[in-house]
Amino acid sequence: MPGDREKSGRQESGTRPRDGLDRRLAELSDRIAGLEPHRAADLYKSGACLVDIREPHELEEGTPAGSTHLPRGSLELEIQSHLPETDQPVILMCASGQRSLLAAEALQQLGYQRVYNLVGGFRAWKGAGLPIEYPRVDGDRFRTRYARHLAMPEVGEAGQKTLLASSVLIVGAGGLGSPAAFYLAAAGVGRIGLVDGDRVERSNLQRQILHTDAAVGHPKTASAAERIHALNPDVRLDTYPVRLDATNAESIVGDSYDIVLDGSDNFPTRYLLNDVCIRLGLPLVYGAVFRFQGQVGVFHAGDGSRPCYRCLFPRPPSGRDAPSCAEAGVLGLMPGIVGCFQAAEAVKYLLDLGQSLQGRLLSIDVLSASTRTARLDRDPECAWCSGSPPDGYPDYQAFCREA
Ligand SMILES: [Zn+2]
Repeated sequence: MPGDREKSGRQESGTRPRDGLDRRLAELSDRIAGLEPHRAADLYKSGACLVDIREPHELEEGTPAGSTHLPRGSLELEIQSHLPETDQPVILMCASGQRSLLAAEALQQLGYQRVYNLVGGFRAWKGAGLPIEYPRVDGDRFRTRYARHLAMPEVGEAGQKTLLASSVLIVGAGGLGSPAAFYLAAAGVGRIGLVDGDRVERSNLQRQILHTDAAVGHPKTASAAERIHALNPDVRLDTYPVRLDATNAESIVGDSYDIVLDGSDNFPTRYLLNDVCIRLGLPLVYGAVFRFQGQVGVFHAGDGSRPCYRCLFPRPPSGRDAPSCAEAGVLGLMPGIVGCFQAAEAVKYLLDLGQSLQGRLLSIDVLSASTRTARLDRDPECAWCSGSPPDGYPDYQAFCREA
């Protein structure tokens, strides 16, 4: 073939490709900031995204705990759903630190300004004794860890494998997201996504049990990642240290999740999540708390027959009717109860068990130790779940301010 002749001719008369590659890697390592493993771990703890760009089969030897796996071939196409802002710090890692150097240049070309290369790659990370997780579960570990699930005919080996192959997106790593993320991770849900742009505050610790006093001031996603991996290294955790808004919601929620759990604490996010889930056809597990009371529901709307969150609350209640937890207070264990109910609805959905709260609203009152389940009908006036939702997304802040 003419092309082959041309190639071999070039090789004979010019330099070897390897020399060219070495030159290029040397040039890139001058230009791209390199981090030793411990410095990379510190930056990761303070909120940077650590991306493992190796091929899936290379993960058998482990991956840095909590890292995001985006194989080199899909890096440029998928990075934006994990890092929607180009000023967020990102550390790239491969096996030895060479492929990640080339990948770092590609991210710089996309406009990312704070791109770092993990010098020495995964080998150096492992050699430094930093935390590692193993995405594949071997037989013994599987049988021991999930023994109580395997003993239940409703779950069993097939159900447990289903959970390990499932994914849940949790919006908010706060009061509701904490127990939900803990129990879903303990249950062996294979992939958990966590969206939260806030940092841990000391006043959160009365109820947000994912976080510790030592994590005050740290990003909630980083603090949550540390605790969840300590609990169950089988779980792949994808963190999104951002506030969900109309510009990033579709790419985050649409990042191949099976079900979405609303652990947010504000109305703009609740309406946005409802609308995005309808558009993407995903089930949404709703939960809310107020002082000694809580509510749980499941919305899987969009075909014109089933209700959505907007059918329950066509407009956000006024600030006086629905003060935030910060204003009204909440019994610390209340989000624990509601978050666990939300996790239960997610597991029921993933395993197709029992009767879903779809189309019903569960209300819980711990003072009277009573629960009530009310039927929810679709509001015929609701445009969003009518089967043909409006184009685009409204201005949620303005919509909720009008209340
Ligand atoms: Zn509706």
